Amino acid sequence: MLRIGCHLSSSKGFLAMGKDAVKIGANTFQFFTRNPRGGKAKPLDLEDVKNYLQFAQENGIGKILAHAPYTLNAAAKDESLREFAYETMLDDLRRLEHIPDAMYNFHPGSHVSQGAERGIDLIANHLNRLFEEEFSTTVLLETMAGKGSEVGRSFEELRSIIDKVERSDRLGVCFDTCHVFDGGYDIVNRLDEVLKEFDSVIGLKRLKAVHLNDSLNTLGCHKDRHARIGEGGIGLAALTAVINDERLKNLPFYLETPNELPGYQQEIELLKGLYQD
Ligand code: FE
Ligand code: FE
Ligand code: ZN
Repeated sequence: MLRIGCHLSSSKGFLAMGKDAVKIGANTFQFFTRNPRGGKAKPLDLEDVKNYLQFAQENGIGKILAHAPYTLNAAAKDESLREFAYETMLDDLRRLEHIPDAMYNFHPGSHVSQGAERGIDLIANHLNRLFEEEFSTTVLLETMAGKGSEVGRSFEELRSIIDKVERSDRLGVCFDTCHVFDGGYDIVNRLDEVLKEFDSVIGLKRLKAVHLNDSLNTLGCHKDRHARIGEGGIGLAALTAVINDERLKNLPFYLETPNELPGYQQEIELLKGLYQD
């Protein structure tokens, strides 16, 4: 069975997201843990969480993906910004303890002008501090497009972070098709080789989720602009191969395409039709 959903607005709470997911034919979803621009999270409504968990069980929703605000930068030059990333993610992970079967994805960070090596050290340090506390949620590093000074632009950079994290058993990777393509990995013509490379550098056992997006731009452009499924440089045939690849097909897929709910519903229906059970 294809495990697929999309990014949903969390402003109305968990039960509302669960209902939106079911309405559009999804069986999972992604959400921002708080306003993506940062800011304080509303207190968790435990009644809403309880109702959601019941609803999720009845409707077969599983493996939801929490996404950290993309403005956090664990590799920032300014210590107070790094501290803010740490406090925010710590708070997110504590809250997520109320939601079993969730994973937590974040953008590793941008080294600004400090160099990738320093960025990698700062990100690993950030994770080592977070992991001083025990959480049941797996933390995912997202593969990045390499826009500006983003760290995580290659499989090697992610590997270097993982290698410096003591409790790396608590880390996974989220493979974003737009980012990987924009980063220069040719998943259109060489998906098999790209996945072999992922396996030899990072290890496929780390791969826990896929962000399924087309790209507005071309291979290796380092831009990070998502396109609707089949309307970009990756194209429908390549994305169909992604969801059906033996190494990927049992992972949860999350659409982050420029769509409102009806557009997501269409893409989910299309992809379900192309999936080989
Ligand atoms: Fe992301
Ligand atoms: Fe993504
Ligand atoms: Zn992106």
